[in-house]
Amino acid sequence: MRVRVPFGRHRLVGVVLELADSSDLPEDRLKPILEILDPRPILDPAALGLLQWASEYYHHPIGEVISAALPKALRVGAASSATEERWNATVEGFEAHNRGEPKRAPKLRKLLEFLVAREGASADTLTEHLANWRDAARQLIARGWIASLEVAPQASETPTAESRAEGPPLSDEQRAAVEAVGASLGHYGTFVLHGVTGSGKTEVYLRLVERVLAQQRRALVLVPEIGLTPQLVGRFRQRFATPMAVLHSALTDHERLLAWREAFSGRANIVLGTRSAVFAPVPDLGIIIVDEEHDSSFKQHEGGFRYSARDLAVVRAQRAQAPVLLGSATPALETLNNISAGRYTRLTLPRRADQAAPPGLRLIDLRANAVNAGISTPAVQAMERHLKDDGQVLVFLNRRGYAPTLLCTACGWVAPCSECDARMTVHLSAGRLRCHHCGADGPLPTRCPQCGFTVKPVGQGTERIEEALATLFPDVSRVRLDRDVVRKRSDMEEAMRRMASGEARILIGTQMVTKGHDFPNVTLVVVLNADQGLFSTDFRAPERLAQTIVQVAGRAGRGTRPGEVLIQTEFPGHPLLLSLLSEGYDGFARAALEERAQASWPPFSRLAAVRDSATNAAAALEFLSQARALAKPPRSVKLLGPVPAAMARRAGRHHAQLLVESADRGALHRFLDGWLPEVEKLQSARRVRWALDVDPIELF
Ligand code: ADP
Ligand code: ZN
Ligand code: ZN
Repeated sequence: MRVRVPFGRHRLVGVVLELADSSDLPEDRLKPILEILDPRPILDPAALGLLQWASEYYHHPIGEVISAALPKALRVGAASSATEERWNATVEGFEAHNRGEPKRAPKLRKLLEFLVAREGASADTLTEHLANWRDAARQLIARGWIASLEVAPQASETPTAESRAEGPPLSDEQRAAVEAVGASLGHYGTFVLHGVTGSGKTEVYLRLVERVLAQQRRALVLVPEIGLTPQLVGRFRQRFATPMAVLHSALTDHERLLAWREAFSGRANIVLGTRSAVFAPVPDLGIIIVDEEHDSSFKQHEGGFRYSARDLAVVRAQRAQAPVLLGSATPALETLNNISAGRYTRLTLPRRADQAAPPGLRLIDLRANAVNAGISTPAVQAMERHLKDDGQVLVFLNRRGYAPTLLCTACGWVAPCSECDARMTVHLSAGRLRCHHCGADGPLPTRCPQCGFTVKPVGQGTERIEEALATLFPDVSRVRLDRDVVRKRSDMEEAMRRMASGEARILIGTQMVTKGHDFPNVTLVVVLNADQGLFSTDFRAPERLAQTIVQVAGRAGRGTRPGEVLIQTEFPGHPLLLSLLSEGYDGFARAALEERAQASWPPFSRLAAVRDSATNAAAALEFLSQARALAKPPRSVKLLGPVPAAMARRAGRHHAQLLVESADRGALHRFLDGWLPEVEKLQSARRVRWALDVDPIELF
């Protein structure tokens, strides 16, 4: 329950977690609560239980955890339920009306008549129908004939489980999946729906939500930020004639409050949202669905409270005695390991609803082929072939801009970012040099600032690839999808429209193309460079690479035309690429999990990272070194580091990390419980910004 309390010279909103009969403070230092803000608690015991669990697991103060779970408007005192100003005729008003009064005041008469005829009306309705009704209202109040009060708004739509539309008849695999999860309604179970894009996962979600609604329960659906498209929301709205609340990061504070209230009041029977929606209030929760569960946007990895919405969804389902369904074409290795360990149940949709053959993957050795502007000859030939056959081509490169480096060939100068240990990226059409890590932005020099010789862009970004393709295929129209050209949702829609209509036939894109949208007429996918993912300091890089390749490949093709996927690499013999090619994602995952087991990386161990940053490198390392010196870990817990981050300087701050690792989760958390309060007391902690990241997914 929220209360307003005096705090120093301010008045703040607080949440009452417990009541106490006595206090250690003298009575005259205790202050009264000024105001109780909620008629009923906005966090029920189940919600509080989840937040308390998160606070313990992520070792973060409960206050900040609660604050992260609530919309900003509620944190500053907005009402938890909407009210509307409702006007009614009083008993005296009814009697006066029946006597035909007021006789000589037409405006007053009209308002009274309106309220009597409609048995009351909201202020909004009155404003709509009667100009200047408030003047009239004042006079009628004076006579005691009408009155107003604040009430909960009347539902405009009555919640109903009715479907608006019927779905297609399910395939055998879809039916099996719906039956398996359906049998678990009413109790906990974690299911993994493993199926490529277009295999009918969403259809399975819709059927399960239908069942949940039929039991008068509600559904919570979580999607990655970029996966929450108008199409997806549209599919739910099309199927169900029931109120839905949609929560995502682009909402204004007020919109978020309204959506939260819809969920809290139970008016919304389906709550659909991104990461933080895992905390949304959903009374009588019947199922949680997490779509694209492998997506890294479910992990909050900034700020103080760093959590995994996917993992919390599982915990929430457990506590709510409801099933949770994790859907993906490329489940996280952690998730696959949970299946092997028998904790999660796997359900497979082995093929696309509308296509028999999966696309064929082939590697192109970049060292053995002529390469022009990053595109090898075999890739160009394949593009020609597919374009001639009326297909569309998707070219994937996870690097926006024109070129990642600006180089002086005379003296070897490369344009550096002054704030980061990174190079500036060339943005040719904008005529700028930009840092993709801190956002620094400067003019594009034509001459080397060091020796005056001419400089040249080296390497490829999407802008340059687009230029190269314009030269190679001058008559074929292209679209580019990256953060430089797509700034609003409507830009994305426009690009999709141009591909769907066939107006554009080559699509060049970054990671952005791997999510949300399908390209049914794309028959060829070219992955320009697979190598960034193979040799990274982050042990998760290969997993992300394989997921990207499978996701990009999965966007392509429909019907009977077999799709083709070409992957350019300088390391065609790399075992992970080979296992991906010969055995698909499952084969890759098996090989990658084996590597992880040998190196004792998660999921075969548990990690927590203490990260910090400071204005100088020494301070960043000093704090972590002192923290390490304080630690008295048991034998089962290892500390690794501290080390500077792979890109130590970012936006002018120096970053470092200290890893805590253990095969025993309990031991790790007990150690953190004892150690962190000591770390907090360190003097050096004040000179840095630091945070704990439990189960980090990005290491640097
Ligand atoms: P996913 O969520 O796995 O990408 P969808 O559920 O969106 O897959 O299904 C892909 C396409 O196939 C959609 O157009 C959907 O309407 C259609 N579809 C799904 N299941 C069936 C089915 N059983 N019969 C016919 N079409 C289906
Ligand atoms: Zn130079
Ligand atoms: Zn920078």
